[in-house]
Amino acid sequence: MTDRNQTLFDRACRSIPGGVNSPVRAFRSVGGTPRFIERAQGPRVWDAEGKSYLDYVGSWGPAIAGHAHPVIVEAVREAALSGLSFGAPTEAEIEMAEAICARLPSVEMVRLVSSGTEATMTAIRLARGFTGRDAIVKFEGCYHGHADSLLVKAGSGLLTLGNPSSGGVPADFARHTIVLDFNDLDQVEEVFRARGDEIAAIIVEPVAGNMNLIKPRPGFLEGLREVCTKYGAVLIFDEVMTGFRVGPQGVQGVTGVTPDLTTLGKVIGGGMPVGAFGGRRDIMECIAPLGSVYQAGTLSGSPVAVAAGLASLKVLDEPGFYDHLAARTRRLVDGLQGAADAAGVRFSADALGGMFGVYFADTVPGSFAEVTTCDKEAFNRFFHAMLEAGHYFAPSAFEAGFVSIAHSEDDIDTTVAAAREVFVSMD
Ligand SMILES: *Cc1c(COP(=O)(O)O)cnc(C)c1O
Repeated sequence: MTDRNQTLFDRACRSIPGGVNSPVRAFRSVGGTPRFIERAQGPRVWDAEGKSYLDYVGSWGPAIAGHAHPVIVEAVREAALSGLSFGAPTEAEIEMAEAICARLPSVEMVRLVSSGTEATMTAIRLARGFTGRDAIVKFEGCYHGHADSLLVKAGSGLLTLGNPSSGGVPADFARHTIVLDFNDLDQVEEVFRARGDEIAAIIVEPVAGNMNLIKPRPGFLEGLREVCTKYGAVLIFDEVMTGFRVGPQGVQGVTGVTPDLTTLGKVIGGGMPVGAFGGRRDIMECIAPLGSVYQAGTLSGSPVAVAAGLASLKVLDEPGFYDHLAARTRRLVDGLQGAADAAGVRFSADALGGMFGVYFADTVPGSFAEVTTCDKEAFNRFFHAMLEAGHYFAPSAFEAGFVSIAHSEDDIDTTVAAAREVFVSMD
């Protein structure tokens, strides 16, 4: 076997655990050899063999303007020429903070960090510091980065303690995390009736994108808002994935439900490492140096990363950006659905803005339990056949997909045509 991807993977496995710097990249869920990417441009990536793929991962979201967008690359180049990092404030950070506050009405103050994980970890600490309470509520299947108190799965009963979902997480941490079912408001109300005065926050992906794509049922987010207001808990929308992806104001703009804190990442870095958390002024003023809740970062607000973020937001401001993005994404999922139906394959698909989900199931799932009943083997066959044909989907049945503005209608139609053949071959 002379495939350079395999050669690189073998070499990577000798010095990097599993050969990758983030687990999903290892293709464990779908099997086979990860593609080592050499370059990317617009809607395409090229692997180590020089083979090109239409890319529906988009670096897991950030590449919303297409890879190596000239405006963003030029902004990075220019910033780099003036110095990579100072560990002191810069005017560009103010512009970035103002740009975020101007776009998201719920965000009165914001702090920049370097990843989504840092953003959610700090938002949780902040909610605990603000309320003086320890417990938090999260939902099964929602991912909020890898902070200890968020790597927790449900215990055996509704009111029992959470269990660590990762080695190395003390049970003592996990017991402060209550894990409930996404889209089940009755559970939330029951838990708050029993323990409302202990709960600092609810953290939720307002449209879940880490268990495939799952939308909130009508009334679910509104209900979370009511419960938090009633019991004095902090409502945290983790919009690290959905922020500036599903629309110009994230899910809060789409639904009109206002969180107390919002976490951001992915798109706001334009491909560079940027995260952010922000929200109500009275809560944000609890962060050091104003308040007692500690948070810091050597490279927070890095001038190069901020330059990429600001340039990216500028591209998103172009008139009609989100209408075009949503139309392309809709064209993809409608096309895939039509192709699957024609071939008689059990399949459904859903989309919001530039995000989509494909499910090997008769209907679009509404909970983690329903997602896990999708036909994973069918997905894996679809994934590999599409990859072979030059279409790069997320290497797991439980991840959302992403379209960029650089995907033309022709690109989408090419992918749908490939899928038509793949579906027929799967029958
Ligand atoms: C990706 C993601 C995170 C973690 O962000 P990192 O930058 O990978 O640390 C947190 N929350 C959500 C909803 C995400 O999609």
